[in-house]
Amino acid sequence: MSFHKDILLSVIAPCYNEEEAIGEFINRTVSVLDEHCPNYELLLVDDGSKDKTVEKIAEYQRKNPNIRLIRFSRNFGKEAAVTAGLEHSAGEIVVMLDSDLQDPPSLIPLLLEKLDSGYDIVSAQHTIRKKETFLKKITSKLFYRLAAHMTGLTIPDTVGDYRAMRRKVVDAVVSVKDNVRYMKMIYAYVGFRNATVLYEREPRFAGVTKYNYPRLITAALDAIISFSDKPLRYISLMCIGISISAFLLIIYVILQKIFAGDTASIANGWTSLVVLINTLFCLLFAFLAIISEYISRILRESKHRPLYFAEEIRGGRTDYPSILKHK
Ligand code: UDP
Ligand code: MG
Repeated sequence: MSFHKDILLSVIAPCYNEEEAIGEFINRTVSVLDEHCPNYELLLVDDGSKDKTVEKIAEYQRKNPNIRLIRFSRNFGKEAAVTAGLEHSAGEIVVMLDSDLQDPPSLIPLLLEKLDSGYDIVSAQHTIRKKETFLKKITSKLFYRLAAHMTGLTIPDTVGDYRAMRRKVVDAVVSVKDNVRYMKMIYAYVGFRNATVLYEREPRFAGVTKYNYPRLITAALDAIISFSDKPLRYISLMCIGISISAFLLIIYVILQKIFAGDTASIANGWTSLVVLINTLFCLLFAFLAIISEYISRILRESKHRPLYFAEEIRGGRTDYPSILKHK
C-alpha cells in the first residue's frame, strides 16, 4: 500500500446527534489511517446536531490537527452533509463513511487496495442485513427493483454510502447540482470504473437511526423522481387509454339507447355506476399524487437555493489550502 502513503486521503463522515458514537468513531478511524495512510484529513460534517457532537469533535481537534469540522447552521439532511464533505475535500482519494460505526473504519485499507487495482470508485457492499425487519427488507428490495426499472441505473440494495473514490469521481459528483439529491443514484449516474468489496455491516455503536419510514419514503421518491420521468409517461399513456375507453363506452351506451331502447344491460343500475366512478377516481387521484410529487420537486429545484449553510469551518490541514491544489 505504499502508493497511498504519499497522496492525500480525505475521509468524510456526516454526523447528526452522534455524541455517543463520535469519539469512538474518531479513535478507530484515526488509528486505521495512522497505520495505513498517514497523509490524511478527516472531514466531519456536523448536520445541525442538537447534542454535544460538536463539543466532542472540538476535543479531538485539539489533539489532532488533521480533523476539520464543517458545522451546518441547522439540519439539512445527510445528502447535503455528504455533498458538503465532498466539496470541501482536498484529497486525491476520498473515502465516505457513516459516523455511527455501522461502516467499520477497518475496511478502509481494503477499499483503497481495490481502488488501486484499477478502479475509480469502490463501494462497500454488506453481506447480510442483520436485525432488519421483514417489512424493511422486502420494501427495500422492491424499491431498488423499481428504481432500476424507472431510471435505468442499477444500485444493489446492499450497497450503502460507504465508498472510496478518485478525485475525478468526486469532481463529477460535485458537478451534479441537483437540489433533490439521492447520492447513491448520483454515484451510479456519473459512472466510471466501479467495483465492490464485501463486508459485514455492524449494528450502530450507540444512539438511534435518524431514518424513519416517512424519511425513507421521501428519499425513495427523490431517487426515482430526480432521475426518471417514466412515471409521468405511464400516466400519460394510461390517460390516453382511459379516454379512448370512455369515448367508446359513450358511443356504445348511446347506440344501445337508440336501438335496444335502454342501457340497463351494461350499466346495471347503481352498482355499476359506483364501480365505474370509483375506478376512475382511484386512478385520477393516484395520478394526481404522482404529479404532485413531481411538481413539489420541480419547485424545490427551480429555486436554486444552496444545499446547506456552513456556519463554521474549523481546523484541519492547512498545507492544502486550496481544494484544487493537487490538480
Ligand atoms: N446523518 C446526517 N444527517 C441526517 C441524518 C443522518 O448527517 O439528517 C448521518 C448520521 O449521523 C450517520 C449517517 O448519516 O452518520 C447515517 O444515518 P443513520 O445511522 O441514522 O442511518 P441508517 O444507518 O440507520 O440508515
Ligand atoms: Mg447508521
